[in-house]
Amino acid sequence: MGGEAVDVSGKACLCRVDFNVPIKDGVIVDDTRIRASLPTIRCLMEGGAKVVLISHLGRPKGKVVESLRMDPVAGRLSELLGVHVKKLDDCIGEEVEEAVRSMKPKDVLLLENVRFYPEEELNDREFAKKLAAPFDIFVNDAFGTAHRAHASTVGVAQFLPAYPGCLMKRELEALEKLLRSPEHPYVAVIGGAKVSDKLGVLENLLDKVDSLLIGGGMANTFLMAQGYDLGKSLCENDKKEDALRVMKKAQELDKQLLLPVDVVVAERPEPGVPVKVVRPDEIPEHMMVLDIGPETRREFSRVILQARTVFWNGPMGVFEVEQFSGGTLEIAAAIAQVEGFTVVGGGDSLAAVEMAGCADKISHLSTGGGASLEFLEGKELPGVKCLRGTR
Ligand code: ADP
Ligand code: MG
Repeated sequence: MGGEAVDVSGKACLCRVDFNVPIKDGVIVDDTRIRASLPTIRCLMEGGAKVVLISHLGRPKGKVVESLRMDPVAGRLSELLGVHVKKLDDCIGEEVEEAVRSMKPKDVLLLENVRFYPEEELNDREFAKKLAAPFDIFVNDAFGTAHRAHASTVGVAQFLPAYPGCLMKRELEALEKLLRSPEHPYVAVIGGAKVSDKLGVLENLLDKVDSLLIGGGMANTFLMAQGYDLGKSLCENDKKEDALRVMKKAQELDKQLLLPVDVVVAERPEPGVPVKVVRPDEIPEHMMVLDIGPETRREFSRVILQARTVFWNGPMGVFEVEQFSGGTLEIAAAIAQVEGFTVVGGGDSLAAVEMAGCADKISHLSTGGGASLEFLEGKELPGVKCLRGTR
């Protein structure tokens, strides 16, 4: 696996991947995550391993849910790899052991949704032992679930030599760089729905960055803390103290913290509703803030364009509705122009970058939302800690 060579030839390899793709009526809507795992799968095949893939899909909550079986994934993966990927209807037991025994080097097999067992999320030791039983080595490529200690991400490493896959390595390298050796100026742009999801990362980022730009629904809570009336906006009243603490910390560390100076408001986040641009002290009581305004976009873009390092997580507005996507798209375009190291993380933020058509101009697109944020908070991820050569 990337980096120091591990001899996988002839070995039965259990590879944890993130195949948690959106599926509608049995059809995969977006196969980005499957494509992202191809380098690791190909690398294992070329090394002569017997490649057995395991993933979760959706939230079956420890029961078999027919619509969350991995069959559509096996189909798509077969097309992408150009080889037939056999799929089993279980992930432990006699059938699995038998199938692994009869594999030849370079064969690829996909196991059933591991979250059909409640023991997975409980990181049950006996279950992990059963998962590990047919195998010689474990490769974890599912960075997106590395912040959770589950049986298929952490438990199996008690029973098998464990290594990071290519995707996992790339994620760690990019985020490590942000955490330990960013070039300055370093600008973080944080948005999205809620402050509560991202307080830890906001506070930790302040130690590292030169400027913190806050937009999206989370900016509302900061504006409220400053005493503005936010009308019907999404706003976390119980997070006022946290917002004040973050602003105080920025001041103490002499870091630039920018909030919106103008906002786009409407009565509802729906297509076609009348919109207005107002200052934070003019938000009508029957309206909600749904995007950053034009002056804020200009100011944020100006700061972003001077950066040598940018981390972005969280859209600047309700970008799913065209009328409120302007701020997010403009910020995406500014980040794409930066001649330095740029990282975008988070499911919705990645969708926004795609929508802006500038995904290829971002240095690193981080597939792990929660995991990237916890890593940048400075937390040790259990799914990383148990792998060899990651420390
Ligand atoms: P990511 O998936 O990139 O981590 P989040 O899930 O934290 O981002 O936030 C994305 C969501 O935040 C989007 O669904 C978007 O509509 C919502 N959002 C952004 N700005 C606002 C706002 N002003 N009011 C309500 N929701 C918002
Ligand atoms: Mg999201």
